[in-house]
Amino acid sequence: MRRTVLLLASLLLASLPLCSQTYAPPKYLVSDEMFKAVAAEYSGSAAKENVKGITQFHRIQASPGYTDARKWVVNRLNELGVTDVEVEIFPSDGRIRYQTYTGPLAWTPRAAELWVEAPFRARLCRFPEVPMCLTTLSNGGEWSGEVVHVGRGTSAADYEGKDVKGKVVLASGYAAAVHRLAVIGRGALGVLIYPTATDRPDHPDMVRYNGLWLKWEEKDKAGFGFQLSRAQGDRLLVALASGQWVRVRANVDATLHAGQLDVLSAFFRGSEKPDQEIILIAHLDHPQWSANDNASGSAALIEIARTLKKLIDEKKVTLKRTIRLMWVPEHSGTIAWLDKHRDIKEHAIAVLNLDMVGEDLYQTNSRLRIARTPDSLPSFLNDLVENVAAQTAAANLTDPAGTKNLFHYEMTPYDPGSDHDMFNDGMVGVPALMLGHWPDWTHHTSEDTPDKVDPSTLKRVGVLSTAAAVWLSQAHASELVSLAYLSYRNTMTGLPPVSLPGWTEAIQEGERPCTSDELRDLFGLQAAQRVMVAIEAVAKPEPIPDVQEATETLGQSLGEWDCIPVSTGKLKSPVPKRLFLGPLADSYASTWFSEQLGAGHAWWEEQSEKIPKWDILVYETLNFTDGQRSLAEIEDAVRAEFGDLPDGAVERILRDLEKVKLVEFTPPKPE
Ligand SMILES: [Zn+2]
Repeated sequence: MRRTVLLLASLLLASLPLCSQTYAPPKYLVSDEMFKAVAAEYSGSAAKENVKGITQFHRIQASPGYTDARKWVVNRLNELGVTDVEVEIFPSDGRIRYQTYTGPLAWTPRAAELWVEAPFRARLCRFPEVPMCLTTLSNGGEWSGEVVHVGRGTSAADYEGKDVKGKVVLASGYAAAVHRLAVIGRGALGVLIYPTATDRPDHPDMVRYNGLWLKWEEKDKAGFGFQLSRAQGDRLLVALASGQWVRVRANVDATLHAGQLDVLSAFFRGSEKPDQEIILIAHLDHPQWSANDNASGSAALIEIARTLKKLIDEKKVTLKRTIRLMWVPEHSGTIAWLDKHRDIKEHAIAVLNLDMVGEDLYQTNSRLRIARTPDSLPSFLNDLVENVAAQTAAANLTDPAGTKNLFHYEMTPYDPGSDHDMFNDGMVGVPALMLGHWPDWTHHTSEDTPDKVDPSTLKRVGVLSTAAAVWLSQAHASELVSLAYLSYRNTMTGLPPVSLPGWTEAIQEGERPCTSDELRDLFGLQAAQRVMVAIEAVAKPEPIPDVQEATETLGQSLGEWDCIPVSTGKLKSPVPKRLFLGPLADSYASTWFSEQLGAGHAWWEEQSEKIPKWDILVYETLNFTDGQRSLAEIEDAVRAEFGDLPDGAVERILRDLEKVKLVEFTPPKPE
């Protein structure tokens, strides 16, 4: 492998237009002039004002509160002179499915109260004073009843020997699961959810976000749901433990109904290649107060729109390719949109997903994480954004109303959980990075409020994202070569030394299995592949002669491997083919897959408890399933990424998906 890598190095250097051993790319890809123009225009304070605007709305996916927030964003854009906008609407009702995702049922909450009537009298919730204390998708009605504690309340065993019919269940599990078992399954009136003792114990009054995520057919049987703080939960638990009779009264004025997913795009059209798009995306949904998650990303996009408009009007920026800004309902809206835009790979070059990008680092004890693309989708985008992040850190940007904290950021391996998952999916294939802060003790709680949003952080992430997008929009031949060089250099320094017991002996015998690093190379993670992907992705559809030549030579030399992937030893391996788009939805909010699989789903639950990163492993297994690789090759690719796996795990994943018609197997490739 070393030999091959050195060969690649000399080929690449020899083919650079500036052709010499001393070729030095610029330190930063974005020119100093362009970076300064963006930084001078982008205002962190203005972005924070947008955060305050968005947090007026209780913006639950598919619900009218979300649509109100979306309309507010459109109005704001129009006020800023950004009028090239498009709204796409997708029906959503807890029944309609987009690929494996069921669009949420819609919900209009107006008012709600929860009172303890015995053994003491206290009000535990009043909506909308504290919007999060009413569980999302709680049904409307009036109830009163005795409280029964069921522990977590998420398995049948939790209910053994307990009669919950006509009573109110107190539990610490996920609301949707508790509600499904207790109310839909056993006739309880409603659920009170409290946090476990280990969940952020320093914040006894904090209320967590949680949802019932009802299916359409459950809507008329649904009860109520409230979220208790730890202190409130403890009062009830102490009373119950001492044998007292606890009674609560709940009033909820809310309606469950069919709704819609609103996907908003704003366009800054390219003058030369308007069909090619760079996408910046942020999810606009979440409960009203949720400021960092993700009013911050949505607000940053509005300020990016204002900045682009101003720089274009002043002729400081001319876009060659189109920049599209997108505000979406997380996951559900994005998958519906991708289901409609099946040809997105032909248009989109790159995606930056802004999710939780405004944090005051002192208050949240956090730092910005920039998650690279997964191993299944190597991309130049990692190298570009890392380079612009370094440039942003060196510029030490602050906002007059913001903190003077240092810019703490790090590039991380792939990190799932937001809309970038959808674009990086193997069937979509558009490289997407996520920019977001983590860890965050306020996440999905009543503590995620605008006072924890720092204009300086908003400024840094906004400038970084704008500068990277503008660079991609404008990149031409010589810049692409700089990027290719950067990709190559980054990858070279990142190669760990090869070591495997028995390695030398195996070579002497003329045959040895590939090390996992070599497997990673074979499956496209490392140097040559990444450089090629860089050039192809950005240069399409017009190849650039010099670069084209380098690409071809690199491609040829990729064939020179002196190790044997294990898969070549396995004869007659069939080729699985995916019949669906996007990650596999498998959660309390999207139960279609587990219902289809029936009893077989227990194996999936076991694996997710046993195997670290199980969700990412399933995700990558599907991403490697490209209709070309055989099952054995997919197993190798997954092993290259995750190390040794239990025998047959990858096959079981794909065979289970075959059972529910999400995958089909075709005969082995001819030898
Ligand atoms: Zn988020």
